[in-house]
Amino acid sequence: MMRYKGRLMDSLRHAGRAGGAGDTTASLLQDAARRGVRYLDEIGSRTVAPPPEAIARLAELDTPLPAGPTDPAAVLARLDEIVGPATMGMAGPRFFGFVIGGALPVTVASNWLATAWDQNAALATATPGVAHVEAVALRWLVDLLGLPPSTEGAFVTGATVANFTALAAARQQQLAKVGWSVEADGLFGAPPISVIVGEEAHPTLFKALGLLGLGRERVVRVPVDKQGRMRAVRLPRIEGPAIVCLQAGNINSGAFDPFTDICPAAHAAGAWVHVDGAFGLWARASRQLAPLAVGLELADSWATDAHKWLNVPYDSGLAFVRERGVLPAAMSVSADYLPTGDGARNPADFTPELSRRARGVDIWAALATLGRSGLEEMFERNCRGARRFAAGLAAAGHEVLNDVALNQVVVSFGAPQVNERVVTAVQADGTCWCGRTVWKGRAALRISVCSWATTDADVEASLAAILRVAAEVIGHRGHG
Ligand SMILES: *Cc1c(COP(=O)(O)O)cnc(C)c1O
Repeated sequence: MMRYKGRLMDSLRHAGRAGGAGDTTASLLQDAARRGVRYLDEIGSRTVAPPPEAIARLAELDTPLPAGPTDPAAVLARLDEIVGPATMGMAGPRFFGFVIGGALPVTVASNWLATAWDQNAALATATPGVAHVEAVALRWLVDLLGLPPSTEGAFVTGATVANFTALAAARQQQLAKVGWSVEADGLFGAPPISVIVGEEAHPTLFKALGLLGLGRERVVRVPVDKQGRMRAVRLPRIEGPAIVCLQAGNINSGAFDPFTDICPAAHAAGAWVHVDGAFGLWARASRQLAPLAVGLELADSWATDAHKWLNVPYDSGLAFVRERGVLPAAMSVSADYLPTGDGARNPADFTPELSRRARGVDIWAALATLGRSGLEEMFERNCRGARRFAAGLAAAGHEVLNDVALNQVVVSFGAPQVNERVVTAVQADGTCWCGRTVWKGRAALRISVCSWATTDADVEASLAAILRVAAEVIGHRGHG
């Protein structure tokens, strides 16, 4: 029996090879690791944006689908040689565009390992190892973020789907309260749900509302203050089923809505309060930053990203719902062929997906490696970097448009055309990468500091580059 099994394994292994001994699983994975290590070793010394020559070379991939097999080692080499140089240096220390974390080395490694495991993380009894580690990660997160102990969570692809997932729970609960089962009967003929959002809600929140049949436009928009915070005194009168959507971390200013003022009023009217905290939720993990997010724990659901500030690989987000059982009421699935959790948490009862990669493995690895103090240090270092950018830019006479309380800086270099030329020149210079935005009607450069890899020295080098480039652009304008 053992001998038969041994021969079976040999022939299966052999079938996995397309070519010679160089193409075994081990050599392919070692080759990938070697190439990945070299990429990450070099990322700090290359230009952050890919050079135009690298982008031009992508045309080499525009071939017909190969008629037959190719040596997998050659396929990997092609990816590394053609696609690698055309990547944006998001994994490096000086990428400040959008809100993009890097990936902690241990999470890149855990991601590779979990990919080797190739677990379908839907069902606790089928994949007990990853289901267990994900349950532990959720428990740690609820504690770290200071969410109510009853909170349940789901591992999803990002904050868009986390908003969708949490808002599906909100929709379920608000309609169940008035005797309507939206899961069974849908929205046709259902009592209407009022949806209240801030003027500065993130575009993906509207997308999530649209997907849920609540409508992207069918919302009441509450005016905001100079930092983009919802003005609590302008909250409308709430009656019947209602969802109030708040924000922890404005995409431009980094500001937080006034949870302490709004949550009690919304709850008194029976509404559900949801918080989009794609990056701002992590402020709760730092003693220095947590006061910005005070009262956030009063909400009913929260969405966040792990691929932003927790610095795990794409794609990774989290949805949390305070009241036990509500998330499964919106998401659970059952079939005769699908095992129940047998008392364990069955991951598929919490997520929109059934089949799914075990994203929680990387999250667990990040939390286990950094611990409370390491996480705090990373978040606070990034915010210190943002404050340093703001101070250096202001000292050079540029106008910082936001209160830099978190990790976001919005700076104007003058008229829209001038600002645009500065943004383009900063990106082309390659020392760092920052994006553009329009904040309160002003064209501006956005700096978002949220990578584990960004040191104080990276901030200084990037600040110097931005100031140099801006002086050149503004100087040239002066000479016509
Ligand atoms: C990034 C972001 C989102 C969307 O997150 P994805 O991970 O891209 O889906 C939603 N809300 C806010 C405030 C964000 O910053």
